[in-house]
Amino acid sequence: DVSHGPILYLDSISVSFDGFKALNNLNLTIEAGELRCIIGPNGAGKTTMMDVITGKTRQDSGTAFFGQTIDLTKLTEPEIAHAGIGRKFQKPSVFEHHTVFENLELAMKTDKRVWRSLFAKLSGEEKSRIEEILALIKLSDKANLPAGLLAHGQKQWLEIGMLLMQEPKLLLLDEPVAGMTDFETERTAELLNELAGQHSIVVVEHDMEFVGAIARTVTVLHEGSVLAEGSMDKVQNDERVIEVYLGR
Ligand code: ADP
Repeated sequence: DVSHGPILYLDSISVSFDGFKALNNLNLTIEAGELRCIIGPNGAGKTTMMDVITGKTRQDSGTAFFGQTIDLTKLTEPEIAHAGIGRKFQKPSVFEHHTVFENLELAMKTDKRVWRSLFAKLSGEEKSRIEEILALIKLSDKANLPAGLLAHGQKQWLEIGMLLMQEPKLLLLDEPVAGMTDFETERTAELLNELAGQHSIVVVEHDMEFVGAIARTVTVLHEGSVLAEGSMDKVQNDERVIEVYLGR
């Protein structure tokens, strides 16, 4: 059930690199089913925050919970992925020589949680799951094309589809529309709006128009902590936010 209670809870997380505080008592609560955008100037701590959530970086202090019971600070990076946090990095990484369909098939979660062999026969249920994702990422007509032939934006959608095949409980997307055309960006906003509600999603993004098109709540990071949080309208008109973005 994704409709009750926070899916992610960060309380007073601090991370220092050589005495420099990349995160400084960061607090963040993401409700299940929420689509949250994280913005902030370069160096604000966005990547470090994602790294702490996924176990790539260990916090110096503070607590991080996934759902009510999973203490992220006690898990390794693979254990956190296994627990259901899926992360997509900025640069797409798909299997260029495999078809779009095969890419989704390879990414499918199995009972053993190992990557499926391409030679194993798909059940009807698995096949329809792949077709459902293909339609969602708007690549049904590209199913049999080698992924290497896709446009940049289409590769990004395929990678989101591959993440969805693993049925994550929380999706972390790092600048998903970087390098996309306006048309691709609009379609990505459509896709994320379709996913919202059914999925819990955290997006780090610089493209403000895109952020305005998807986020109900925007969190502004600055110097490793939350500077402002609220609707796009609210944070855009926040004096401190304006100063951080324009004031130097
Ligand atoms: P953002 O993603 O918002 O641009 P980052 O989380 O990448 O910000 O970085 C926050 C701050 O921490 C920056 O000043 C950056 O230089 C510093 N930082 C990040 N990772 C490291 C690291 N591994 N070693 C030293 N400093 C780092």
